[in-house]
Amino acid sequence: MKPKNLKKLYAQSKDLQASVLNAHTVAVTSLTNPAANHIVTVAYAKDGTIHARCTCPWAIYGGVACTHVLAALEALAQKRGKRLSFWRSREDAQRQKRRLFCIKDHETQADGVWVTSRRSA
Ligand SMILES: [Zn+2]
Repeated sequence: MKPKNLKKLYAQSKDLQASVLNAHTVAVTSLTNPAANHIVTVAYAKDGTIHARCTCPWAIYGGVACTHVLAALEALAQKRGKRLSFWRSREDAQRQKRRLFCIKDHETQADGVWVTSRRSA
């Protein structure tokens, strides 16, 4: 299940506070309940696949790339002096001529959201 409106999702993710706990774990504030955190765990495969899990309901019911996952990935990238862009299709992502990553569904391994990274200015 891919997010329908990636731009809107990305805009929302920018309002979330992400605290990087370690290289694979990020705590992200919840939009619906500001008192709560969602925990995002991220694993990177050598082929550029990103497996991300989140404790929010949308992710638990099979959603790929919720706002928390986007916020978490961006926070992890920031630590390495990188900025990310998110794309719905491989073609759009490839046009950027940057390093390419893909957030995949854990269960089906279907392509979810494409990610490119660049050095932050
Ligand atoms: Zn989530």
